[in-house]
Amino acid sequence: MPFDHLAARLKQRRQQHLYRQRRTTQGPQGAELVVDGRALLNFCSNDYLGLANHPEVVAAFKRGADDYGVGSGAAHLICGHSTAHHALEDELAEFTGRQRALLFSTGFMANLGIVTALLDKNDAVFEDRLNHASLLDAGLASGARFKRYAHGDVAALEKHLTDSDAENKLVLTDGVFSMDGDVAPLAKLATCCAHQNAWLMVDDAHGFGVLGPQGRGSVAAAGLDAQQVPVYMATLGKGAGVFGAFVAGSETLIEYLINEARSYVYTTAMPPALAAALRASLRLIHSEQWRRDKVMALAARFRAGAGQLGFQLLPSDSPIQALILGDEARAIAASEKLLAQGILVSAIRPPTVPKGTARLRITFSAEHSEQQVDQLLSALEKI
Ligand SMILES: *Cc1c(COP(=O)(O)O)cnc(C)c1O
Repeated sequence: MPFDHLAARLKQRRQQHLYRQRRTTQGPQGAELVVDGRALLNFCSNDYLGLANHPEVVAAFKRGADDYGVGSGAAHLICGHSTAHHALEDELAEFTGRQRALLFSTGFMANLGIVTALLDKNDAVFEDRLNHASLLDAGLASGARFKRYAHGDVAALEKHLTDSDAENKLVLTDGVFSMDGDVAPLAKLATCCAHQNAWLMVDDAHGFGVLGPQGRGSVAAAGLDAQQVPVYMATLGKGAGVFGAFVAGSETLIEYLINEARSYVYTTAMPPALAAALRASLRLIHSEQWRRDKVMALAARFRAGAGQLGFQLLPSDSPIQALILGDEARAIAASEKLLAQGILVSAIRPPTVPKGTARLRITFSAEHSEQQVDQLLSALEKI
């Protein structure tokens, strides 16, 4: 039979507690989620600021659909680039303090498009070991020489850079690491890249909107400018609560990517109504500091409570809190025990995280209350 070998691999996955399955939710994102008709407390979404179902964002999306219809009709370079996309790009450039910004349909596509456009086989790419899968895949797909350095280890990176005689060197890092929640040593990375004549690209999927002044992200929080971090990329489906991604940088960088990034050129533009919704979301990110203050205060409350209960969390200055349990079966059992108490927390297993570091990845949102955090703590105490 065709695909028998795939069935065998799936069976093996199941035995290793690595089988992945989807959960079907009903209704919008929020502090509570309805799953199989049952309301659950949600501690696994990336909607850190509570914007995914914000009335102003929803209203802008509806107006966008009235103004532009649903489909964008074509790629940006054909006839799919609308005034809504263009205005959002201008606002993102201004917000991130760079000359230009360029929208991509997803963060995965942005990373793939940017890195493969910037590098070829005469070049070299250097990546933190815990970078997101899309950055690792993008580096591999570029054909450039590929080096990974130990997590956050700038000295190890410096050594790799010194040893390299590549024409162009690109250093890639998550701004906030997606599964650990810690922030990359961005200032040190920038200094190292300047010494070594390498370009630094930061993927700020989990920092954009959440960290820095007015939510301008981890690079702004570190006080770094467009010279020090010439390629700033972030996603718009997490803190911004909508969908899509962008890269911000110099005029030359953006014009080059418009011409050369294959996942930009050869794909349909995102629906303009999403861009309209994102413009509303960006205004809220900018003006509502209380959302950042609240989500960080909730994460701090959780860390203090978890410490009192004797739980060891990974270091984190973000709404992402990781409780390492080690083996896969343990992580799944913990997640299931929380579910039995009406709490949704996902178990994250290899290969998403390194072997032996299966974990509960707990995330907070400005939509949560202190009382809900306490509920999570008392549920954790029972398991
Ligand atoms: C989620 C994520 C992406 C992918 O973004 P999508 O828009 O979901 O495709 C890229 N990089 C990091 C660090 C992420 O966490």
